[in-house]
Amino acid sequence: MRIAILKERAPGETRVAATPETVKKFLALGAGVAVEEGAGESAAVSDEAYRDAGAELGPAAATVKGADIVLGVQAPDPAILEGARPGAWVAALFDPFGNPDRVRAYAAAGLEALAMEFMPRITRAQSMDVLSSQSNLAGYKAVIAAADEYGRAFPMMMTAAGTVQAARVFVMGVGVAGLQAIATARRLGAQVSATDVRPETAEQIASLGAKPVFAEGLEASGEGGYAAELTDEQKAAQAELVSGHIAKQDIVVTTALIPGRAAPRLISDAQIATMKPGSVIFDLAVAQGGNVEGSVADEVVERHGVKIVGYANTAAHLAADASALLARNHYNFLSAFWDKDAGKPVLDEEIGDAVRLTRGGEVVSERLRERG
Ligand code: NAD
Repeated sequence: MRIAILKERAPGETRVAATPETVKKFLALGAGVAVEEGAGESAAVSDEAYRDAGAELGPAAATVKGADIVLGVQAPDPAILEGARPGAWVAALFDPFGNPDRVRAYAAAGLEALAMEFMPRITRAQSMDVLSSQSNLAGYKAVIAAADEYGRAFPMMMTAAGTVQAARVFVMGVGVAGLQAIATARRLGAQVSATDVRPETAEQIASLGAKPVFAEGLEASGEGGYAAELTDEQKAAQAELVSGHIAKQDIVVTTALIPGRAAPRLISDAQIATMKPGSVIFDLAVAQGGNVEGSVADEVVERHGVKIVGYANTAAHLAADASALLARNHYNFLSAFWDKDAGKPVLDEEIGDAVRLTRGGEVVSERLRERG
């Protein structure tokens, strides 16, 4: 059983899919691990550290040669995987709805694509959930980046020269990223409020010491703990709520996503115009179409004196921690299914069928087939 780790090739990707810690753990399971030279460089992991952990280092072709499993952050172009075993598994983020051509290319190459973003939201899969581990760090980074762009301080400060007021922070979308954004802004001393379309989040917001701000009757809980799309009426109710609240905020962090769809638009240009000059909006959904009108990935856009910020790949801005958590997600996934006699992982139906996109030359994912 040979596991291969390649250097990520997507633009702006700084993370790596294994760390010396997980290399050692895979070796302890009886697997061999090959790592492409330089794979960990942008995540502060040297080739020596991988070698010391017991990995075999080499160029891409040698790394992939004979691999049974390839672990990635973002799924590589299948062309680079030519030397892998027929039917080799590739576990990574595939963006299956956004990149169906790549899924078809994996089927055509006879590879078994395992999409980590399709991990079911069940208790036993929590430690394997890449979306959660990366969103958590992204929520933290969004607040830090917004604080950096903000020309004022976050905490209230009573100084000899007078008082500095605490920043008001509003978090829209209270999933994994939103909860961490609230906690981070609170730790920095801001006054925090937050909203969502899933009513159960009100209690979570309050438990972090922030103020829940909810429109009457606005509820759009979808399947598997995710949100559903709002009706036009609900959108109008939310817009009214946001308009009333946003003008008083200094920092707004938006994190709203709906699986398989473009991110919902939460803030219009007209609403931005009501905000105070010097305010900052961080749009965590910018790469999924954006929650904020006018946001551009990896650019600071200024509208009506308000800075709108958002990264194409927020977790990649915390490469070392993001890689450490993602690598553990991969290890937790494979080791949970490790069959000692077979010397390889054997997936069960519940998780295997959820994450598997391709097998035996076909696209086999129910979720993808439902979407045509
Ligand atoms: P997500 O990234 O899909 O969306 C972010 C947030 O945006 C969600 O809270 C969503 O309700 C909200 N949202 C969507 N449309 C909105 C709108 N129009 N206005 C305001 N907010 C909007 O969510 P997520 O971070 O993946 O988390 C979703 C839920 O799943 C959470 O309750 C989380 O705790 C849960 N979860 C469970 C597991 C598990 O059990 N294994 C793992 C991860 C997350």
